[in-house]
Amino acid sequence: MTIDTKAKKPLRTTRGFGGASTGKPNEQKSKSDSAREAIERGESRFNWTCERHGEADHYSKQGACVKCCSDRNRRAHAQRVATPEGRKARNDYQQERRSIPEVREAINAYHRRYDESRKALDPSYAAHMRAKAVNANAIRRMRELEPPRPETAMPSKETLRECAELVKHFPADAEVDHAIPLRGFLPGTKEWVVSGLHVPYNLEPMEARSNTLTPHLVLLSASGA
Ligand SMILES: [Zn+2]
Repeated sequence: MTIDTKAKKPLRTTRGFGGASTGKPNEQKSKSDSAREAIERGESRFNWTCERHGEADHYSKQGACVKCCSDRNRRAHAQRVATPEGRKARNDYQQERRSIPEVREAINAYHRRYDESRKALDPSYAAHMRAKAVNANAIRRMRELEPPRPETAMPSKETLRECAELVKHFPADAEVDHAIPLRGFLPGTKEWVVSGLHVPYNLEPMEARSNTLTPHLVLLSASGA
């Protein structure tokens, strides 16, 4: 079956789209017909046979296999960041993009939407994100302490992984607290008397209210959670 892409102009075509190498006819319909129909239905993807991936999602606009594109992008990315110069160029570019308020807002909105949909599809993703947030919060607060914590008191990557694993199994509605606060004061003198660590055995799940309202028996946590 030949595919006459010139007769049906609405599609942007790319190399390989509708060509003999990839465009095996599914049933009676041509690939470009399937793509066009998907676009008419308002769908960004349609199902087609990929030589490498078999039955797979294809982009309605370009006709390319989603998995193939993803593989290619991943390979290109790995190649770009394989060198220190490549990594620096990538970071500089991202920083530059993020310095534009509209871009930053768009990126954040995208991540919020992504998180929401992932959480809706997969309950364990919510637990994973919470565990990451607990680690990020602890690190940020320890770095902000005055005087700052020595690097030796900062959790290692391994410790962070252990904390995350533990937090994932806390009840979903619990807040995560440091049993010994990261920075604990004497109530009267406000003297810094104790320095808790961000380690698994110093983490405990608490009811949200008890953590924000009730001070610790003797020590007040400067940082809250
Ligand atoms: Zn493919």
